[in-house]
Amino acid sequence: MAINERLKLTIGDITKMDVDAIVNSANPRLLKGGGVCGAIYQAAGPQLLAETQALGGCETGDAKITHGHQLKARFVIHTVGPVYRGGSAEESSLLESCYKRCLEVAAQHGVRSIAFPSISTGVYGYPIKDASLIALKSTLAELVRFPQINLVCFVLFSAGDFKWYSDHLDELIDNDDPWDRLQRVFDRLKPNYGDLLLQDNQNLEVARVSTILSGPRSPEALKELDSLVSTLRSANDRIIQEKCLQAVNFLEEKVSVLSKLLDEKRAKPGIRNQVLHPLVWGLKREIQNETIASKFAELSDDVEEEFENAMEIIEDLDAQTR
Ligand code: ADP
Repeated sequence: MAINERLKLTIGDITKMDVDAIVNSANPRLLKGGGVCGAIYQAAGPQLLAETQALGGCETGDAKITHGHQLKARFVIHTVGPVYRGGSAEESSLLESCYKRCLEVAAQHGVRSIAFPSISTGVYGYPIKDASLIALKSTLAELVRFPQINLVCFVLFSAGDFKWYSDHLDELIDNDDPWDRLQRVFDRLKPNYGDLLLQDNQNLEVARVSTILSGPRSPEALKELDSLVSTLRSANDRIIQEKCLQAVNFLEEKVSVLSKLLDEKRAKPGIRNQVLHPLVWGLKREIQNETIASKFAELSDDVEEEFENAMEIIEDLDAQTR
């Protein structure tokens, strides 16, 4: 099987994956943490913690295997990604080693299908643009060594993460067949079909592309396919831009409310924390909620910085009203 057919990308929850093994982005003590790790421990049940606690921890860049317990997956492979400290602390080779070691351990245990989350790009702060390229490059290199592994699926948690992975994958996979390339681009637009149909009314185009793809290949069909796919692609880019704009507006509103609260608090030191604190918490939860967080993941670096500034203001307020 060609390598690109063995590597898939999807958006979703890794704990639900029906594969031989799922990878946990773990902490060095293999404790139940937050993020994807917390979700895996939750779904696997208490026996998982009992099993990991007998392993004596795990070094950064290494991997250890346990059973999957209540998960669909037979195994969980725990790997510890590097905490990002600016890029000069060997983060890239440690991250590369995570993917390599997971696939080695998987192969040793007869695993034929495996799902990875995006290691280190959550709490550990590795920038998604670089981390996704490292993830794909190291996985592609290992797949050559382990032909028995016939499926590696990256399960991404936001449309923004998915886009980084799919853009890099396009560049990495050497595929000269334009028909296959267009099919791949079209498949990647799938998570956004709902938006495309609703906002840009592209249902005719979507239907026509599906018909062409399931029909016979001819130069005329290829030409039509090319033009339809690029129309859909631009419509999709427009929608993403629009979502970003909405997210920025949302953020600006919240920042102004928070700044006012902060001013008030400074002006009237007597203002009761019991009154302010629930407000701050409400806003914090709203900004951190999944939809907003995933919108921000699609934004440019500038806007991400704005997001971080806003979070700083909120943390500040949180600390002052506690
Ligand atoms: P790390 O410490 O490696 O940064 P995190 O769990 O904070 O680990 O984040 C790693 C990635 O996993 C992030 O992109 C996060 O959005 C994603 N993630 C969180 N929960 C899930 C889940 N249930 N399935 C797949 N990915 C998830």
